[in-house]
Amino acid sequence: MTASGPRVATVLAVLVAGTTALAQSPSQGSGGAAGAPDTAHVERVAIRAAHLIDGKGGAPMPDAVVLIAGDRIERVGSRLPIPSGTRVIDLGGATLLPGLIDVHTHITGQAENYYADLFRRSPIDAAVRAHIYARRTLEAGFTTIRNVGAPEFVDVALRNAINDGEVEGPRMEVSGIPLSATGGHGDLNGFSPYIQFNQLSGIADGVDEIRKKVRFDIRQGADLIKVLAGGGVLSEEASVGGAQYSQEELNALVEEAHMWGKRVAAHAHGAEPIKRATRAGVNSIEHGGLIDAEGVQLMVQHGTYLVPDIYTDYYIVQQGRQLGYPDIIIDKEKELRKSQVVNWKRAIAAGVKLAFGTDAGVYPHGTNARQFALLVGDLGLTPMQVIQMATINAADLMGWSDRVGAIAPGLYADVVAVGGDPLKDITQLERVCFVMKGGVVVKENAAPACR
Ligand SMILES: [Zn+2]
Repeated sequence: MTASGPRVATVLAVLVAGTTALAQSPSQGSGGAAGAPDTAHVERVAIRAAHLIDGKGGAPMPDAVVLIAGDRIERVGSRLPIPSGTRVIDLGGATLLPGLIDVHTHITGQAENYYADLFRRSPIDAAVRAHIYARRTLEAGFTTIRNVGAPEFVDVALRNAINDGEVEGPRMEVSGIPLSATGGHGDLNGFSPYIQFNQLSGIADGVDEIRKKVRFDIRQGADLIKVLAGGGVLSEEASVGGAQYSQEELNALVEEAHMWGKRVAAHAHGAEPIKRATRAGVNSIEHGGLIDAEGVQLMVQHGTYLVPDIYTDYYIVQQGRQLGYPDIIIDKEKELRKSQVVNWKRAIAAGVKLAFGTDAGVYPHGTNARQFALLVGDLGLTPMQVIQMATINAADLMGWSDRVGAIAPGLYADVVAVGGDPLKDITQLERVCFVMKGGVVVKENAAPACR
């Protein structure tokens, strides 16, 4: 196709629109008009509740008051005086927490049937449904997500629509299309070579192709780069633990992403891809279940985050048959489960940094918080540790500590509440009864537990 007049005009319009979206994205507002805030008309809100966990790890604050001006938190304290003219939201005996963060989501899709999902759904289906999943996620208390893989930049479009206030959903950091080696976890394996998807691809082999693909993702609006450094569960490639990129390739990928100011999330189950990705300088290892002692040491040395998505393991084993997964996938999951809890515990004991990420989309969106109980029960973490994984740690991994991850002055007024004490019963986080994002109440249950 040659460039005709109208097509050039369309491309220009798209370019202009893209520039506008980029210019607006740093504000990451809760929606509504962009531009300088009109301080004279900023709405002032006070939230009052019996307890507050601020995300920073200290003891819960009793009789908490959070003063909010516009979309930001202004002051936090116990029994703070509330200025006149302030709208008061009294949540009674509830416990306030920072808006939760899931650093590993696939918000544009949800597994229902493996082959139908692969062959009967198009990226347009993903685009049509994504906003529903975004809203469910937000209403579950997740006011921020890091999306690490979506087709056709549907994640970029969704992020922009949320930032523009057109769609309700969490704040989003997005990766665009993950990079994969030919024949790797992100490729279509085991089918006729004549079956090809006519859509954008993340396949890149060798240093030059990898650098180009990183630039391509960034040009299309990716906030970070996701690389499939090794095998995975939900594909028909054989090895779950194998390496799929060389050290040289991963070094180039990370160098390129960091040059453009973008962080890197590496999918890696196996010991070797974990070590290669960590040496290359990725910011997080996603999954990481087959990590060995050397890998643990490397992650501690490099300050690399680990994102142990333990809930999906339960879900895949329990629901795998109904979801139509072939034996090869279920067998890979069972293989992982033999050793990953032990391996994760070794990493935790050595002090590897942890962030909360769930692989949402493998299981239904909006039930992300079910992972908390497993992190406490199976990995031996404390409720405070897992709350911090989903607040201050997650924000640190994303580079968003200046905007989310704690209830503290200057940060966005992203606040959730639960009826009981999550430090005694972590499953309280599965029953979030109040959600505020950027000073706007998204969900408020009249349930007595939250009053
Ligand atoms: Zn994933």
